Amino acid sequence: MLRSTKIVATLGPSSNDPETLERMFLAGVDVVRLNFSHGTAEDHQRRAETVREICRRTGRTVGIMGDLQGPKIRVGKFKDGKVTLKPGDAFVLDADCELGDEHRAGLDYKELPRDVKAGDVLLLDDGRIEFTVERVVGNTVHCRVVHGGVLSNNKGINRRGGGLTAPALTGKDMEDIRTAALIKVDFLAVSFPKSSADMYMARQLLRAAGGEAFLIAKIERAEAVEPGALEDIMSACDGIMVARGDLAVEVGDALVPALQKRMIRMAREANKLTITATQMMESMVASPVPTRAEVSDVANAVLDGTDAVMLSAESASGKYPVETIMSMDRICIQAEQTQPLSLDQEFLNRVFTRVDQSIAMGALFTAFHLKVKAIAALTESGSTALWMSRMNCGVPIYALTSQTSTRYRCALLRDTYPLMVKYAGHDREELLKEAENVLVESGVVEEGDLIVITIGEPIGKAGGTNTMKIVRVGEHRRG
Ligand code: PEP
Repeated sequence: MLRSTKIVATLGPSSNDPETLERMFLAGVDVVRLNFSHGTAEDHQRRAETVREICRRTGRTVGIMGDLQGPKIRVGKFKDGKVTLKPGDAFVLDADCELGDEHRAGLDYKELPRDVKAGDVLLLDDGRIEFTVERVVGNTVHCRVVHGGVLSNNKGINRRGGGLTAPALTGKDMEDIRTAALIKVDFLAVSFPKSSADMYMARQLLRAAGGEAFLIAKIERAEAVEPGALEDIMSACDGIMVARGDLAVEVGDALVPALQKRMIRMAREANKLTITATQMMESMVASPVPTRAEVSDVANAVLDGTDAVMLSAESASGKYPVETIMSMDRICIQAEQTQPLSLDQEFLNRVFTRVDQSIAMGALFTAFHLKVKAIAALTESGSTALWMSRMNCGVPIYALTSQTSTRYRCALLRDTYPLMVKYAGHDREELLKEAENVLVESGVVEEGDLIVITIGEPIGKAGGTNTMKIVRVGEHRRG
């Protein structure tokens, strides 16, 4: 059974072994995530090579996403690696401290004392530990522990409500963007953007390094969900990640489910991609089966309309990376079967003015009402498939492209299955025949099936889609 929702798996020690990685791909991974917060440039390059080698060998299309660390603010290291804090303890965050102890810790972001004030709530280690700020003196922030626990080296710090001024792209990010360009990632995720300006800068840096990728804005700052901010960020990216880990710490966990629904809806309306991330199958780091709550979480993200669900520690450092993907696969498929088709309700409200977009929408409407077996979008840039995939019409969309980069980017689009087609000449009938051959040889249609094809003339020009054809498979192959 075809799965509409895509699976993104973060790579790490658990998925280093090529044999395990291949099993993960066969279990259903569509995109791998290289997390630049961990590992060296060489580690990421080596992993990317292994991914491409497995794709070549198995014929799978698995995209690669680089994920920048961004300005994650962290405590420094401790003399003994960690300390245990109790509620009521006094604790100092000290920009000048080299090595921490049970009374104080250093800071990698030296400006923190300038960004906080008495009464602020600071959350450490993804919110497991909570401090209130009592006073700021010079380079030191004097805090009181509200929720204690074990605080170890380099754990993250967030301020409830956001508002820390660290710029979105650090020196390390700029270095990692060069690595991403070298690897030729298909997607680049930017952490903690506050506005479109951060996304423009990332795109410029990537281009300057010779790279080109779909840019994903990770929505994880309180400022990014303020009125108007999401629209602004979305105007400058190709997709968003609902980065629930940091977002929950900044805005409070109870707000995140509603934000997730709002973000996915807005992104689909703006023709952008969405990835829902963090702790989706967290218990499977150590257990071969998910909890009931995790099953519901993945299913609800599918019902919200996300393009992809993402695994972090589960596939990077967990004990059961293959089993986790198999579980996600079956949960997505089951949820998709209960989802109402949205075309009839939403279609009439769509606004589009471009010729290529009008053809895409016309094809979608036709495919839905004729109940065809498949839509074949002959696409150079992938735009036709993207527009079609923003609505749930219940017909699989095959993105047939001659461009390798488009093929890998389409791997993340919901309901969309990329296939390679060779544009041998510039003859339309030849190309339609080739398209039918590819669909039949891939086993997705058979002789006699009704399909809808979109195509542009002149052949091979991006943005030139101007024709829709309803075809009974076999017509062009015989002709
Ligand atoms: C998150 O905070 O949810 C997230 C995906 O970011 P990262 O895993 O990079 O911290």
